[in-house]
Amino acid sequence: MLLQKQYKFWFCTGSQDLYGDECLRKVAEHAKQIVDELNKSGVLPFEVVWKPTLITNELIRRTFNEANTDEECAGVITWMHTFSPAKSWILGLQEYRKPLLHLHTQFNEELPYDTIDMDFMNENQSAHGDREYGHIVSRMGIERKVVVGHWADRQVQERIASWMRTAVGVVESSHIRVMRVADNMRNVAVTEGDKVEAQIKFGWEVDAYPVNEIAESVAAVSASDTNALVDEYYDKYEILLEGRDPEEFKRHVAVQAQIELGFERFLQEKNYQAIVTHFGDLGALKQLPGLAIQRLMEKGYGFGAEGDWKVAAMVRLMKVMTAGMKDAKGTSMLEDYTYNFVKGKEGILEAHMLEICPSIADGPISIKCQPLTMGDREDPARLVFTSKEGKGIATSLIDLGNRFRLIINDVDCKKTEKPMPKLPVATNFWTPQPDLYTGAEAWILAGGAHHTAFTYDLTAEQMGDWAAAMGIEAVYIDKDTNIRDFKKDLMLGDIVYR
Ligand code: MN
Repeated sequence: MLLQKQYKFWFCTGSQDLYGDECLRKVAEHAKQIVDELNKSGVLPFEVVWKPTLITNELIRRTFNEANTDEECAGVITWMHTFSPAKSWILGLQEYRKPLLHLHTQFNEELPYDTIDMDFMNENQSAHGDREYGHIVSRMGIERKVVVGHWADRQVQERIASWMRTAVGVVESSHIRVMRVADNMRNVAVTEGDKVEAQIKFGWEVDAYPVNEIAESVAAVSASDTNALVDEYYDKYEILLEGRDPEEFKRHVAVQAQIELGFERFLQEKNYQAIVTHFGDLGALKQLPGLAIQRLMEKGYGFGAEGDWKVAAMVRLMKVMTAGMKDAKGTSMLEDYTYNFVKGKEGILEAHMLEICPSIADGPISIKCQPLTMGDREDPARLVFTSKEGKGIATSLIDLGNRFRLIINDVDCKKTEKPMPKLPVATNFWTPQPDLYTGAEAWILAGGAHHTAFTYDLTAEQMGDWAAAMGIEAVYIDKDTNIRDFKKDLMLGDIVYR
């Protein structure tokens, strides 16, 4: 469901023939060794593939074009082992369309004090060659990541690994298809947006289907399939009857099981990876999809409530960027609900009326059935839990009328001081950086929404780099944010991205 392709990254070393065949042989040998060691490190989430040393305009151009057409290539890592005259790179770079990493490294870690001579200097001059290459990439205005340091250094490898996930997000963004089975909520501004521009900028396809088409798919799910899934729920989750009749409770749960299967089949059949619903537009569905949507999000589908297709696509994007991550802590749509303003304990209680992804859960997950004041359907079954502690990022993609802005806030997730036994929904609780007051002020000044795409598993840098690759503004709210400078950032964005 998450990644269909075995993505790879090409490792392209630059040089020239000025230094002779013996030098070029060593350049290739060094590059191959770096690639082998990077692959063996266990740090990189994707394989690196060595490519023959690039020394001519023709070869550079051909290699970049091959990278463009190779569906499994998610990006190119470039490194100038020696001096590579950068005019040879112009045509190739001009035609290249995928993510680019400039790894500014060199083969040896330490100066070889006792043996260094001019032959060594000519052979190992990345400090020189990478500046020539970097100059042309900057002059051409090409978006790229620069990572500096020795290739065997774990921190350098971790930065490459982090960029790889951004690169996959860039490449996979244009494969995100969002199904809308409801328009966005009446009169709500922030969930609106220009879907054509979103397709131009991000590659997202956002399509509407009548809700009753998906409701028919739900109705077509057999009782035996539904009951088997209900059994799975009852094995996996705690059942909190809270005084309800067990049989009646189970029937409510079964409605969600049928929705989960019907929705999933409909999404698979029509090739969509994200969906939006709306409590006010449920057609023949018997309940607002709650538990069903929570389970689909856990499987990797994007979701946005009240027709919020931008959040649905962002959640899917984050799911893809974190696919296969060891020790991942989770990704979900969330909503800023209500505050704790007690000094020293400030934070935002995050929840939604139902639809929070259980990937962020900490501890046991329970099923509850409770009435829902919104909409006019049966009491929906939902998964209830609290979330993990630790650092995360909350993001909001907004449409400013003439352009998009991505707002990225570093947040610290915590346990609430006390349990909230009467609250029948999953929650997270966080303090935005640099503190609740500044963080929320900056968020509001930037125009951030109440819905967020949240993850523990990506960094502000990764999402900011994704935004840069998409050609949109990103603003950061983090430990360094102060309002005066933040307003200047917004003013600068208004000029740069007009
Ligand atoms: Mn909402």
